Amino acid sequence: MRTQVGIVGAGPAGLLLARLLQRAGIDTVVLESRSREEIEATIRAGVLEQGTVDMLNECGVGARMMREGALHRGIELRFGGRAHRIDLAALTGGRAIMVYAQHEVIKDLVAARLESGGRILFGVEGVSLQDVDTRAPSIHFRRNGGAERLECDFIAGCDGFHGVSRPTIPSRLRREFVRSYPFGWLGILVEAPPSSDELVYAWHERGFALVSTRSPQIQRLYVQCDPQDVLEQWPDERIWTELRARLATTDGWKLREGRIFQKGVVAMRSFVVEPMQHGRLFLAGDAAHIVPPTGAKGLNLAAADVRVLARALAAFYRSGDEAPLAAYSAVALRRVWRAEHFSWWMTSMLHRFHDDDAFSLRLQRAQLEYVAGSRAASTSLAENYVGLPWD
Ligand SMILES: Cc1cc2nc3c(=O)[nH]c(=O)nc-3n(C[C@H](O)[C@H](O)[C@H](O)COP(=O)(O)OP(=O)(O)OC[C@H]3O[C@@H](n4cnc5c(N)ncnc54)[C@H](O)[C@@H]3O)c2cc1C
Repeated sequence: MRTQVGIVGAGPAGLLLARLLQRAGIDTVVLESRSREEIEATIRAGVLEQGTVDMLNECGVGARMMREGALHRGIELRFGGRAHRIDLAALTGGRAIMVYAQHEVIKDLVAARLESGGRILFGVEGVSLQDVDTRAPSIHFRRNGGAERLECDFIAGCDGFHGVSRPTIPSRLRREFVRSYPFGWLGILVEAPPSSDELVYAWHERGFALVSTRSPQIQRLYVQCDPQDVLEQWPDERIWTELRARLATTDGWKLREGRIFQKGVVAMRSFVVEPMQHGRLFLAGDAAHIVPPTGAKGLNLAAADVRVLARALAAFYRSGDEAPLAAYSAVALRRVWRAEHFSWWMTSMLHRFHDDDAFSLRLQRAQLEYVAGSRAASTSLAENYVGLPWD
């Protein structure tokens, strides 16, 4: 098999890149180790920046998102029993976020690709990347029991944090930056009406909590937990007790409860690899960087990476100009580090780090009061949250 760009991974990065390249007339094959059903059912992110929304619309896969997603023009910071609204739209010249689940984005991208005759090979095994530092790289894999090879001009490594692409770059040529956090999030899906019109980020001495939504019938809620916790430690009643306590206000606000039908623990990590390219291999999305989910940046950064990469590849195929490809890592990393900082900052401001550190708690309260009370500080949060301009 031969293609112009071989894409490893059918997550948001790989599928969006395939879509952008298809629209630029560039042939691609997407290789995915899981089945279509699995990737379409994996519950992950849910907040799309304005730029990601625009990008999905521009490449013709935004219709269902515009119908079924929820446009949010603000978020709430909650602490000291009070709500403090950050008016995202007013502070950013009308920009907003869309709450639309990642697996719905995946469904839309897979359907659009298959309808337009694009190739996704699901269930591939034993993927390895060969000759990435030559002009003729290839991807070796097994499918239906047989060994196959995909010859390419370029390879896009969009295979997430645990994929094979990043380790293909020799360790002496890459530098990794890591920060782990001493907590995780227990996320639940609940059958209940929304408790709030907008996302609620709650700071509390017992730990962080987040009220998010999926649809008018399904809500997504999180509580800070120990990253080593197993689900047996979190029976439903304990989850509701913590949510009620951490989200309580003095104005009579009520948490809408219901049947919990999905639970999972997510660990928190910040990670960046530099550079994001080696020869003709380009990394995008979680393959190159991870952020803690507090800033809602993971999926959006994946979209930002592939936008830069697609433009660089289009320039190459249009005119043979290799300069944008050579600059890919440097250009992408500027946005990556901004998002890394924002995600770390939101995480540090909102989570309980140690049981006995009263000084840190006071600092967090001072920071939250400043963000909620100062137009300059809330504008800084708002413009990062809705996403800084692409260019
Ligand atoms: C449990 C969880 C919860 C999250 N929650 C949030 C959140 O609330 N907010 C937020 O902003 N972000 C969240 N994130 C992060 C966000 O979902 C990711 O940033 C986003 O999925 C990145 O997209 P990606 O395409 O780079 O990688 P992925 O979505 O990881 O996609 C990579 C794909 O590559 C495939 N693959 C892996 N290895 C191979 C291989 N060897 N061969 C072929 N295919 C391979 C995988 O099966 C996968 O489909 C969460 C992540 C996780 C893991």
